[in-house]
Amino acid sequence: MDFYESAKREISTRIDYIIKEIEKIRKDEDFSQEIRRYLENLSLSVVNLEKKMTDFVDIYGFVTGAKSLNFDDINIIELIKLAEKKISHSAKERRVVLNIFLPDDKNITVKGDKEYLKRTLEGIFLKAVETSQEKSVLSINTTLKDNYIQISIIGKGIHDNLDFDIIALKRFIELHKGKFIIKQEKNQNRNYIILPLSEKVDKPVDLSDKNLIVKMVNKEEELPSLSPIAMKIVSMVSQEETTVKEISGIVKNDPSLTARILKIANSSLYSFRMKISTLTQAISLLGMSAVRNVALCVSVLDSFPNTKEGGFDYRKFWEFSLYSGLLCKLTAQRVNQKLEEEAFLAGLLQNIGSFIFAKYFPYRYSEIIEKSIKGDNDLTELEVKEWGIDHPKVGSILMKKWNLPEILSSTILYHHNPDKIQTDDSSFSELRWLVYLSDRMINFLNTGNSELIEHTKQQYNELFKIKASEMDEIISRVSSEIKDIAVHFKINIKEDIKYAEILQRANVELGKINLTIEQANRELKRVITEKIELAEKLKEANQKLEHQAITDGLTGIYNHRFFYEILNKKFAESKRHDYPLSCIMADIDYFKFFNDTFGHKAGDQVLSIVASVIEKSIRQEDTVARYGGEEFSVLVPRSDEQMAKIVAERIRKNIENTSFYKRLPKGEVTVSLGVATYRKDKNWDSENILVEESDKALYKAKKNGRNRVEVR
Ligand code: GH3
Ligand code: MG
Ligand code: MG
Repeated sequence: MDFYESAKREISTRIDYIIKEIEKIRKDEDFSQEIRRYLENLSLSVVNLEKKMTDFVDIYGFVTGAKSLNFDDINIIELIKLAEKKISHSAKERRVVLNIFLPDDKNITVKGDKEYLKRTLEGIFLKAVETSQEKSVLSINTTLKDNYIQISIIGKGIHDNLDFDIIALKRFIELHKGKFIIKQEKNQNRNYIILPLSEKVDKPVDLSDKNLIVKMVNKEEELPSLSPIAMKIVSMVSQEETTVKEISGIVKNDPSLTARILKIANSSLYSFRMKISTLTQAISLLGMSAVRNVALCVSVLDSFPNTKEGGFDYRKFWEFSLYSGLLCKLTAQRVNQKLEEEAFLAGLLQNIGSFIFAKYFPYRYSEIIEKSIKGDNDLTELEVKEWGIDHPKVGSILMKKWNLPEILSSTILYHHNPDKIQTDDSSFSELRWLVYLSDRMINFLNTGNSELIEHTKQQYNELFKIKASEMDEIISRVSSEIKDIAVHFKINIKEDIKYAEILQRANVELGKINLTIEQANRELKRVITEKIELAEKLKEANQKLEHQAITDGLTGIYNHRFFYEILNKKFAESKRHDYPLSCIMADIDYFKFFNDTFGHKAGDQVLSIVASVIEKSIRQEDTVARYGGEEFSVLVPRSDEQMAKIVAERIRKNIENTSFYKRLPKGEVTVSLGVATYRKDKNWDSENILVEESDKALYKAKKNGRNRVEVR
């Protein structure tokens, strides 16, 4: 997988995780509307970030030519800025011409091949542009010249500091690593493409016939067949009455087959302690199925190529197949020993159908495999779309043609979707799942995708109770034995694929991802806590504001405005229920003189104390407010003149008995109070009359000598 893809994938995995976490919280009803709306916006900005980061990956690749991206070493924000700086869009159209010279070789002077090359290049450039999301490219035109192919690219806002042709070339190399070599001649400024000339292209006739594979499969004689001796062995093994002697009699006819069976019988594939030196020994110790398998494998491997041919890498294919066969065998040993032999064969041959595709469409088929790996698309779906049939189907038809047991053809038919058909035979379904999982493992080896292996291991555990640590052990056994076993099957194992290393790398990757997820998680939690704290603070501030709006700053009791609000309510209530409502107006006596003598500050203190004394002198349901200046109003609900007078008298006395100030002994500060009462029969149409009336009573109290209560 090229590094752009893996980097993008990593980004999208991480982002997806964050979004999922956000979504989870967003659905939680416990959070307020405001927080949930905030999280919604957060998801949107995270999605935008993903887009930015993926764009950046492409650009970063172009700019630095980097082959790998280590997220831990990179300050993403810095690099996004850098990338943004690098791309500036100008409205001007610009044309970049790229001449790709063909190598001076007879093989591609053939018109058809050049035409093919032209088409391929066109495709590659379109693909390069598509993947780089270079929206500014308007058109790509490829012309076939005498000894070169000219590609002209017309676009707007081509990257500022870099020529698009160089970018495209880099991308081109990235995408087609190994297929073409591009050389840039320093002086002449020419770009060369050097082709590996042994490669042949898909024949045009094949390309046009979309139904070729289906046709082939229907005409069974066109399908590859086994060697006569392998056919014979398969049919004998399936008959119950066949004896060891009969089988060995057949095999002995082929000395090279005999030798290979013995070698394989003595290899780590079977790991018998004693040496097996005769065919009869091999058959009786390993069993007939094992011998059949070996004969079959040898025959199949001999009749199919195992090197890279016509664009399809058979060698790699066999390597992975053997890997999967061994994995199936070892896991079957763990799950159901009786399945061991069938498991090996099913694992090895599960993708045999692919050969038919590869044989006729080596290039297209390689491309489709690549596509399925990169995009994580189901290969079978792509096959059906292209050729109307998929490799499991073709494979199972082959199995039937070779007279292999039903369990094999059915396993191969369903190895991509083992859950598709239910079967009463548990070994059928066990085998199917084992093969399916081994296929997932091969996918992992192809992609190195750490999540894939994590998930596959989980499935091994869920389905077969094979723990992850046991799986690691099995995998490392396969990795260490595959090379020796491959020799006997004449499969070349490439030294540079180090399975254990891939696995280890995946585990490290996984650890890293988990770590990052943890970080993201922490960050998310922090943001949310911050938000919650903020909301709480907001609530507090609102409450404070509300409180401030209704209280008097100096005394802390209700203000004039709120007094009227309450008066309004109480007046309506009294009117409705026919309760009396009394109001007491209190005014400090000679307060001007007090202020003048002791100063305004001392006056303020007196106001505060008077307020609190009044507060303490009244009932819970009564309300005191600072009416203005040194005047206080008290609402006394459900009380007539007599009751209110008692309250007023209590206030008067309490104030008289309060010592206000060091230099001012008690009895020095007094208040005058006026009481008025509303009753339904008074027919007042407004609560204001109550205030006016109590004010009049207050005036009377002042007039009659102060420090007294008067009732209106
Ligand atoms: P009376 O007995 O007739 O009520 O005489 P008085 O001096 O209390 O009445 P007057 O209405 O002439 O004076 C009221 C004084 O109350 C005037 C002002 O200095 C004082 N006052 C009003 N509001 C405040 C305040 O918030 N702080 C202080 N320290 N004094 C205030
Ligand atoms: Mg006054
Ligand atoms: Mg006064």
